[in-house]
Amino acid sequence: MKRLFAVFLLLFGLTGCAGRQPSYTTDFFAMDTFMSVSVYGSDEDSAQQAAVACEQEVNALEPALSRTREDSDLHRLNHANGAVCEVSEDTYAAIEAAVQYAALTGGAFDPTMASLTDLWGINTENAHVPTQAEIDEALSHVGYENIKLLGNNQVQLLDGAQLDLGGIGKGFATDAVFALLTQQTEDAATGALVQLGGNIGAFGQNPARNGGNWVVGVADPDNNAEFVATAEVRDASVVTSGDYERYFEQDGKRYHHIFDPETGYPADTGLRSVTVIDENSTRADALTTALFVMGLDDGLAFCAENNIAAVFITADKQIYTTDAVASVCTYTFLGAEKGYTDAQ
Ligand code: ADP
Ligand code: MG
Repeated sequence: MKRLFAVFLLLFGLTGCAGRQPSYTTDFFAMDTFMSVSVYGSDEDSAQQAAVACEQEVNALEPALSRTREDSDLHRLNHANGAVCEVSEDTYAAIEAAVQYAALTGGAFDPTMASLTDLWGINTENAHVPTQAEIDEALSHVGYENIKLLGNNQVQLLDGAQLDLGGIGKGFATDAVFALLTQQTEDAATGALVQLGGNIGAFGQNPARNGGNWVVGVADPDNNAEFVATAEVRDASVVTSGDYERYFEQDGKRYHHIFDPETGYPADTGLRSVTVIDENSTRADALTTALFVMGLDDGLAFCAENNIAAVFITADKQIYTTDAVASVCTYTFLGAEKGYTDAQ
């Protein structure tokens, strides 16, 4: 609850009061995180209808992306012992996207991390540092090349690979919500702010700023109720992955939930968070995870090569932005008084 409150302060503090524009906000819990959708429209009823439709869309997608629900496609696929399985269109599309970003990032993003995620048990009562032998065994099942997409929603997992779409699911859901909002009439949804955990989608016009852009905060990893920069965006998604959302500590060391597919350990590259700003939230979600694994130098080089708008925050409080940031948003560095340095 504390976390939900913190994120609200951040968003509403920045976006301000929407004046007299009718709006409706729905807060809900899905995909293991707090979510909120605020829709602005010409009247409150249509705004409410649009917001509720967005919530329903996310809830409907949950079984398509979850691997823990026993009735889910991924659960069935992960327990099929290598047999070909038919999955839903949404599940197939999400796996296809995941494989595409795994290839793009040279496997830094890898959707076959389920054996490792299970082993470490981050965010469960069973969170612990596994033995090297356990890690080696889990790693032997990791490798996105073991996902066979056979067309017609048929998928096969080879070599004991098990899918975990946790690194892409909220982005996929944000894109689905955007698609839904786009279908609404102009009156029903002139603008919307969609917050699915660390994925923020800013859709259409912001009535609080006379139809201008939305201001989204980049969280301070030391205190995520505060921000160290803002990005002014429209029809774009701002996605952050960090070491401060889901982790446990053992012997004074922090073990977080973004794993390096090469070592089987939480990525330890001196980064606290990576934020990606992109019109495609699925892509942004996969890339924040991948860039966190790559680390600062490789991450910056990857972004330069692929024209990715990203903000990297290092453990020594340096904030790096890539060249593409200026082309997708108005970025303002605000971290000086919190001890951060604008490294550009
Ligand atoms: P969040 O879920 O907090 O938004 P991310 O988008 O970075 O954060 O996703 C982290 C989740 O993705 C983990 O909880 C795990 O399920 C999965 N995961 C961890 N490491 C990787 C990786 N290298 N590639 C793909 N998925 C990963
Ligand atoms: Mg991600």
